[in-house]
Amino acid sequence: MTNWQAIAERISAASGRAFAPGRPQPIGGGCINQAVVLGAGEQRVFVKLNSADLLAMFEAEAAGLAEMAATNSIRVPVPICTGRIGQQAFIAMEHIDLGGARGDTAAAGRQLAAMHRTTRERFGWDRDNTIGSTPQPNAERDDWVAFWAEQRLGFQLGLAARNGYRGRLQQRGERLRQGLAGLLDHAPSASLLHGDLWGGNLGYAEGGQPVIFDPACYYGDREADLAMTELFGGFGGQFRAAYEEAWPLAPGYPVRKRLYNLYHILNHLNLFGGGYLRQAETMIDQLLSELG
Ligand code: ADP
Repeated sequence: MTNWQAIAERISAASGRAFAPGRPQPIGGGCINQAVVLGAGEQRVFVKLNSADLLAMFEAEAAGLAEMAATNSIRVPVPICTGRIGQQAFIAMEHIDLGGARGDTAAAGRQLAAMHRTTRERFGWDRDNTIGSTPQPNAERDDWVAFWAEQRLGFQLGLAARNGYRGRLQQRGERLRQGLAGLLDHAPSASLLHGDLWGGNLGYAEGGQPVIFDPACYYGDREADLAMTELFGGFGGQFRAAYEEAWPLAPGYPVRKRLYNLYHILNHLNLFGGGYLRQAETMIDQLLSELG
């Protein structure tokens, strides 16, 4: 049983104003966590719950939301607090009504480009986080190729090996890892990325205002975010054109897009198995043929 009163007290303490949980309203649509809305009217707070050992996952989510919010570019829910109560961990954040009927897709593209203008010297982030429920290592590196080879492609291939996907996937994957410098020769800057930007993590508030949430932030090639927007669809309209008008992409993006999306397909293989093996192998073959 969730102790809603205890969570409400943490929210009161963090926000500095009295907060009553009211009757918790469950929300569907998430992939990982139980989600509810607490409170009423202007006072509503969005809360996600999971088991107590996953507190670090929520702490990293809150840090990611804060990092994106600080850019003042695209709207994200403002985090309020995270914590552990009994057997459960939770994250509480600003509730945003995501029922906006007509999303301003052009604003989403423009504002994402603006967020990507926030850059750092090094690739990675101050902390590790998760992609879906898979760990995502973010130790900072000067070299994007090494970062992608080890902490993205290599990390997921290692997980796949432990999950029993050996043989061809590993051999071809290793060849790709060795050849990465030939595919990533465009000298990207280290942009603040959402990191898990599929259509399910974009919504539109009142007036069509874009909102992104549920991030897996790190600093990396902005094309990795854009690639994911094209992986499962849902961004449509003027999104891409507006992004490119704000900040054009370097030539060669379609090939890098496949490489960046391979990371998510390998993650899906590790999470769900099945048909993602063939998809990952096909993507690796296509990328190896680019290397000649
Ligand atoms: P999960 O971590 O389980 O994948 P999400 O963060 O994607 O969960 O949230 C689940 C759903 O709740 C989303 O699809 C979205 O519709 C809604 N949602 C997410 N964040 C908010 C928020 N701050 N305010 C209101 N609704 C939200």
